[in-house]
Amino acid sequence: MRYRELGRTGLRVSELGFGTIPILSGHVPVLPEYFSPDRDTAVAIMKNAFDHGCNFYDTAIPEEYGDAEMKLGAFVKTVDRSKVIISDKARFYSGAEIYREVLRSVQNLGTTPDVYFVHQVDDSNADEVFGKNGALEALYDLKREGKIGFTGIASHYYSVLHRAALDPRVDVLQGSGNILERGMLDRIREEADFRGKGFILNKVYAAGLLIGPFSTTELIGGVLEYPFSCALLGIGTFEQEEVAFAREYEPVHFEFEEVLERLRKTFAPIGCDRCEKCICPYGHELHTSFRQFNYYHLGKEFWAVNKLWMDLERTYEHCRSCEEQPCMRDCPRGLHIPEEIERVHRLIMQYGKT
Ligand code: SF4
Ligand code: SF4
Repeated sequence: MRYRELGRTGLRVSELGFGTIPILSGHVPVLPEYFSPDRDTAVAIMKNAFDHGCNFYDTAIPEEYGDAEMKLGAFVKTVDRSKVIISDKARFYSGAEIYREVLRSVQNLGTTPDVYFVHQVDDSNADEVFGKNGALEALYDLKREGKIGFTGIASHYYSVLHRAALDPRVDVLQGSGNILERGMLDRIREEADFRGKGFILNKVYAAGLLIGPFSTTELIGGVLEYPFSCALLGIGTFEQEEVAFAREYEPVHFEFEEVLERLRKTFAPIGCDRCEKCICPYGHELHTSFRQFNYYHLGKEFWAVNKLWMDLERTYEHCRSCEEQPCMRDCPRGLHIPEEIERVHRLIMQYGKT
């Protein structure tokens, strides 16, 4: 296992970390598969990762990750606490709420989290999170009180992560990316504002959907060239763990076109890398629709189509009458966005509402 600096925290984290979603039990509507191991098995799986050199474990409060936080707390008691780095998170945006959640997490874990993230920050809640009496201010206070080690912002949006990168109260960022959805990673690599912040990468396997067209060696090796601190892998079984942690991966470089070419063996993907540069004045989140289209063909049919129904009909109607089409000016991939929206629309019409 190789190790990287976690920004300016002074912590060194394993290049590959343990994402705890797959070990949770409970009815939590999260996307990736989870395996519900009992507590002892979950602890043994986490311990095995530790023995392979993993020192970074990421979890969230029970409403988001079931009992994973408690299982992680049980594991930590079996090893030298100073050798394990715990990150935790909660989807609350006001200072009072996140303060309460951190205290609850400390109880559940039985120890102080090294990093605590405000989870799922987006444009609709960012002003509250970053503003006066917001969640970030509370995390900053908790850090000074010694109740957490470092502060974090977790988001799927470049605009939010960039705002966090510019904020001196933030120590660590968490965002998504993989060899297909690499646009945000490319932007972060190019933007000097991100230097000095720790960066935790999730969705390396795209919630498991890219396993099949690509091997885990290609998926892990394909992101190693990016300047993250730790890439989380969702682990729910000893078998998955052996694949993830029992060997050292070498960087593999894929051109974006090579990734699309591989996918074309089974379907015609929309060649969007989710750079999030396209701006639609009607507020349509194009990259999410394009992701759902690709995810549909990669095997998440019901989930992807149901999510697409949320906004797509409105987007389709707007695109048909949109004359200036400003979204296309900034697309570095040269996508004809209205035509791609039409393809997505055809897919959901053919699939029908479920
Ligand atoms: S073409 Fe469609 S997506 Fe692009 S700006 Fe117009 S309405 Fe928005
Ligand atoms: S449609 Fe183009 S600009 Fe928009 S996210 Fe995808 S690649 Fe980026």
